[in-house]
Amino acid sequence: MKLLSKSVNLNSNRGLSYNKMKNWYGNLVKPRTIPPPYKHITQIGDPTLRLKAQPVDVDTIKSVKVQKIIKQMRDVFEKYNSVGLAAPQIGVPLRIIAIGFSNGVMKQWSAEEIQARDMTLLPFTIVINPEVKITDYNKLVFPESCESVKGYWADVPRFKAVNLNGFNQNGEALNLETKGWLSRIIQHEMDHLNGTLYTDIMNRKSLTCGGWEIINERNGSVNLPYKPS
Ligand SMILES: [Zn+2]
Repeated sequence: MKLLSKSVNLNSNRGLSYNKMKNWYGNLVKPRTIPPPYKHITQIGDPTLRLKAQPVDVDTIKSVKVQKIIKQMRDVFEKYNSVGLAAPQIGVPLRIIAIGFSNGVMKQWSAEEIQARDMTLLPFTIVINPEVKITDYNKLVFPESCESVKGYWADVPRFKAVNLNGFNQNGEALNLETKGWLSRIIQHEMDHLNGTLYTDIMNRKSLTCGGWEIINERNGSVNLPYKPS
């Protein structure tokens, strides 16, 4: 079956629509260049999300530069009401993750969901140069989303339990034995440090635009904010 006539040039078509899309986004806000660490979360397509992040020199953890990145990660984490954030998501290709599961977040889930996903609390925690050891190779499949793939979710298989070690923000060794949802969050953030997004490992047919019903109800008039109000 012939899909394209000879006169169609795929590359030039792609270029046109790419430029059209870029102009559309560009017209929304006046461009201004603020270097990373960003105060917003970057989106899929940003090359930094595809890099293998570099380890932090442990001697520099207390430096102004590293502490500024950590502070920015905490600010963004809190602003987005997040449960996990990796430094590449604010434009910094370093091996730093932030994880946490607060009471406020837990309350957004039903008792059944909390039990099925094995959700437990964890105070905000920074882990530098994190390393993961799988402690239960059984996999659980649950829907997962990512602030860097805004608006979507999909089913993603993850190991049931992992041990996490690394350094905290003061440069002290840290070790966390986790299971269930926390282990899922950790695996998701570790993937970010290796340039992997959940869309690479998801069950592809489950990819869902979270707003599809509202889009139908409102005849397509829906805006998606890329930063919390
Ligand atoms: Zn993510």
